[in-house]
Amino acid sequence: MTKSKLCPICKRTRSEEHSPFCSARCKDRDLMRWFGNGYAVPGREAAPEEIAGEIVREERD
Ligand SMILES: [Zn+2]
Repeated sequence: MTKSKLCPICKRTRSEEHSPFCSARCKDRDLMRWFGNGYAVPGREAAPEEIAGEIVREERD
């Protein structure tokens, strides 16, 4: 894992200060990528029926 110290965002040499990224900018981009996944990737949010089903199942038990 430590043989090549590259920023996972832009693949440049990472810096000690912003490890594992090369800069604060890439750190922010990584965060934004995770936040973006919350609503940008289709088919990953829980369907209302799914949530309702969980509640019903709990009540039956
Ligand atoms: Zn970078």
